[in-house]
Order: sequence, then C-alpha cells, then structure tokens
Amino acid sequence: MPTESARGRPGPFDLHVHSTCSVDGKSSVEEYARQAKALGLAEVGFCEHVDLDPRDIGYGYMDPGRYTREITAARAAVPDVRLLQGVEITYQSGIEHTVLEWQEDHPWDYVVASVHMVEYADGWAIISEPGAMGAYFAGHSQRQAYGPYFTELLRAAQSGLGDVLGHLDLVKRFGVRQYGPLDPAAFEEEIRQVLRAAAQRGMGLEINTSGLRQSPGEPYPALTVLRWFRGLGGEVITVGSDAHHADDLGRGTSEALDMAREAGFRAVATFEERRVKWIDL
Ligand SMILES: [Zn+2]
Ligand SMILES: [Zn+2]
Repeated sequence: MPTESARGRPGPFDLHVHSTCSVDGKSSVEEYARQAKALGLAEVGFCEHVDLDPRDIGYGYMDPGRYTREITAARAAVPDVRLLQGVEITYQSGIEHTVLEWQEDHPWDYVVASVHMVEYADGWAIISEPGAMGAYFAGHSQRQAYGPYFTELLRAAQSGLGDVLGHLDLVKRFGVRQYGPLDPAAFEEEIRQVLRAAAQRGMGLEINTSGLRQSPGEPYPALTVLRWFRGLGGEVITVGSDAHHADDLGRGTSEALDMAREAGFRAVATFEERRVKWIDL
C-alpha cells in the first residue's frame, strides 16, 4: 500500500479533468496546462461535461466551438504538455439517440460515458449531487438504491457510447454515508455484467481517483473490480483525477497506476482522435 504521503501524488498523465468549459469547472484550460507543466505531467485529458437532459444543471452548457478555441490557444501557450480534447457524456437510456449523436462529428480525442442520473419507481436523482441524495436513498435499501444505477450503467456499456466507462461505482459517493463502504461482492453479478459488456466491445474502464478525496476514500472503482475486468478480458484502462480545479490536477493518479499494475494490466491507455495509444506500466 502507498504511504499516506504518497497518496495524491500525481502520475505522468491525467485523463479526466474539467475546465471552465464544463458547467462546474473552476480553472481554465490554460490554467490546467500551466499547472501540468509545473507538476511535470506529460499529458492532460480534458473531459468536459455534455449533459443532454433539460433537468440537468449542465444542460446546454457545452459549446464545442469555444472548447476547441480554448484547447488550441492552450496548446500554443504550453506546447510541452499534450492536451487532449475529450468529453464526458452523460448516458441516459431515455434519450439514448440524442446522447449517441454527440459522440460523432466532433473533434473529440476520446469519449467517456458516465451515468449521473438515475430514474427509479418514484422519481429521479442526479447521483453526484448531494442535494438529491436524501430523496434518492430515503426509505430505500442499498439494493433498491444501487440496483437502478447498475441497470442504467449496463445499458450505457451496451449502447455503443464512449471509449471508456466513467467512474463505475459513483453511486457509492453519497451511498457510503447511508449504507457504509461498498462491498463489490454484494453486486458482483450486476458489476460483472457491465464489465463483460464493456470488454466485449473493447470499451475501457476508468480508474477515477476523485473517490480518494470524497466520502468513499477509495477510487471509483476499487481494486477488486479492476481484477474482475482483467479476468473478463478487459484491456483498456485509463486514469483520471476528475479534478474540477487545477489544484486537484493529477491527484491520486500515481496510486491508480499502482492499482492497474496490481490488477494485472501491463499498459494503460490514452487516446488520439478516438484511437487508443498504449503507455507501458
Ligand atoms: Zn462524472
Ligand atoms: Zn467528470
């Protein structure tokens, strides 16, 4: 296990950061690029939100033209750091056609497919927003609350959206406060179905280290799940901090690379124009 001081040490690249081109990003593209240079990172992958449900706070915020201009300017200002123009598209089965359209005909280097919103019998919730979580968890068992999330995640993995599946078990972010730590074995069948669907179409899995900074105290997902993915033939792994401020750039990615090694992966992935490029571990 890494020591506490090693926790948060940045690795050489970070494939999940949000700039002010995302509704909730706090630092500009160029600020990230300068921070990357200061930290010695070789590569930063922007992963700006594309939210396509009018109920979502990010709805209508993504401006591809502005995003391209900011990336182009930052590449010129900080040429030593490779900047990737990626997106994190919120998958929703109810609007799957609209969601899928957004991954085509845009200059994305890669697309991360994430589930943020879950519909259930008596309502809906954005699971990454604390305000909604009381309603989502109230009166529900862990299985009732997490089940619909993993069902939607399976649809995302089967939909053809994305090169990488984002923060696989994000539902634990606020769920741990209600139900305690997530034991993946409790949802092994559901999670394996998702992993199998992703592996079968060459889709990758992200190690998202924001969970280290949040209530779970571990990445999304944990090592056990990475091992399952490897066992099911999964090959593509990316690492990202999910930083929304340049101060968090790279945090935990070194630890994530250790996890990838421990799970049996020999390389991790980065992208260029939707094609995988391998980086040996
Ligand atoms: Zn996300
Ligand atoms: Zn994100």
